[in-house]
Amino acid sequence: MLENMNEKCAVVGIFGHKEASKLAYFSLHALQHRGQEAAGISSSDGQKLHTIKDRGLVMKVFNEEKLATLSGSSAVGHTRYSTAGDDSILDAQPVFARYDLGEMAIVHNGNLTNAEEVRSALIKKGAIFQTFMDTENLIHLIAKSQKETLTDRIIDAVNRIEGAFSLVFLSRTKMFAMRDRHGFRPLSLGRLPSGGYIVASETCAFDLVGADYIRDVEAGELLIFEENKAPLSIKVFEPTPKHCIFEYVYFARPDSKVFGQSVYQTRKNMGRELAHIKPIKADIVIPVPDGGVPAAIGYAQESGIPYELGIMRNHYIGRTFIEPTQEMRDLKVKMKLSPMAEAIKDKIVIVIDDSIVRGTTSRRIVKMLKEAGAKEVHMRISSPPTTDPCFYGVDTPNKEKLIAANMSVEEICAFIEADSLAYLDEAGLLRSVNATDDRYCTACFTGNYIV
Ligand code: AMP
Repeated sequence: MLENMNEKCAVVGIFGHKEASKLAYFSLHALQHRGQEAAGISSSDGQKLHTIKDRGLVMKVFNEEKLATLSGSSAVGHTRYSTAGDDSILDAQPVFARYDLGEMAIVHNGNLTNAEEVRSALIKKGAIFQTFMDTENLIHLIAKSQKETLTDRIIDAVNRIEGAFSLVFLSRTKMFAMRDRHGFRPLSLGRLPSGGYIVASETCAFDLVGADYIRDVEAGELLIFEENKAPLSIKVFEPTPKHCIFEYVYFARPDSKVFGQSVYQTRKNMGRELAHIKPIKADIVIPVPDGGVPAAIGYAQESGIPYELGIMRNHYIGRTFIEPTQEMRDLKVKMKLSPMAEAIKDKIVIVIDDSIVRGTTSRRIVKMLKEAGAKEVHMRISSPPTTDPCFYGVDTPNKEKLIAANMSVEEICAFIEADSLAYLDEAGLLRSVNATDDRYCTACFTGNYIV
């Protein structure tokens, strides 16, 4: 199954800097939250591409010595987030290939929705695949295209794929950045202090390497980077924006600008909106760290209820979401979060989290806070109930496992044993992200899929 590959990853591209691979490495550090399973970088020295990729965190995969072998003034990098089980290094990116025009490396964030069809068609025609990644389809499509130039072949290839893709391609002399027509996943363009360019999933990478944000790569746009030239823009598809609203809710880092606005600000807005929905008297507002922090600040400011740190997070444990069994997930939540008894004992507590997926985290948190002496625990979620899986790159489980697809809010409240539970509604979420039209994909909350 190609399902669940290449999701929620980070991509970066550096063009026109003598230490391109080092900048890619630092950028991947800033983007580590988007994927912790594997990391990789390909660089080009003008004659040849060099690639290093492996399982694990960016810091584990690279060191000074390895980076020194990734020579050249352009580089692309990737961090991968994937479900447990497919831990093959073959499925780490960049995807590298030699073909009739030379060499290329591709990094991809998003999910292709017609990946299986394209792959079966390619296999019928004799293609041999080495990985389970939908991104490998692109290599074959480009290699088999009858067009003469790589630019035309990329355009040819992206016309045959559907779904979500923020892509960066590296050839020996050029770099290409491309976003699908809906711009599901983010991709921004920046200028390096030395004059070169950077593209990255989130602008927090720009801040780290001192780059200035220029603009987003547009939905449907292909940007071509070539030495001594300004980036060339080709409108491959008419843009029909459907940006992933869950980037604002959970996925992006708060210090990033995504789809042109501050993630921190939109999250605080969600907290403010939430404070208007079923307001409740309480002694303190606390976040589930780290995801719930900005919304809890917004909630506290709007309601006037004091903000406290009621839960400590151990940062040395990976995200809990990806563990295969329920038992493991329960244990990992316990390892990750612990209550701050001083702050919560005998208090009526409002707890803010960004989302409930299976309900494991919320249930555990309510129990933990009660055991630590909280008088009442009121759970508030800064997004609507997650009722539908994502096919465009966010790793949500299938519908049977999504608690909100199977239970009412009252039933979920009973399941997590909270004194009350309320979610932000869709209108409040849309206001929080300043939506003035239908440019956001809200399928995980509404089931309205565009592709
Ligand atoms: P659960 O315990 O399954 O209800 O998961 C809810 C927790 O997972 C919340 O604290 C969220 O911040 C976090 N979360 C939500 N969506 C995702 C995702 N796609 N990947 C990883 N964690 C997530």
